[in-house]
Amino acid sequence: MLFTKAVSTTSHSQFVNVTALVKEALQESGVESGVATVFVSHTTAGITINENADPDVTRDLLYILDEKIPWNDPEYRHYEGNTAAHMKASMMGNSSQVIIENGQLVLGTWQGIYFCEFDGPRQRKLLIKISA
Ligand code: ZN
Repeated sequence: MLFTKAVSTTSHSQFVNVTALVKEALQESGVESGVATVFVSHTTAGITINENADPDVTRDLLYILDEKIPWNDPEYRHYEGNTAAHMKASMMGNSSQVIIENGQLVLGTWQGIYFCEFDGPRQRKLLIKISA
């Protein structure tokens, strides 16, 4: 079953915890055992699983990405001017998978699923495929 969820980002670079959206799709699917594939169909946004307890973790991840991948560089050639966002999206990847067991996502206690915005704010789409 395929679900499409809207994600509104509010900053240029931002990690949005989308775990609840994936749980919502899982509940609607009724699947008890399988895999959830979370896919981002954008080239300047990504998806990752990381710590959900201390918000400074995602803040620090954004800091490191900004520090290592400057927005402006005279060597960049991409006409749109957002090469850094494309690079960061590739680093995070465009999909994550989570095991489903007993109708629940099998995530570690401290794990959350994050939509990673690198060229916002924008209206984005998150695709969630629940497979039994
Ligand atoms: Zn571009």
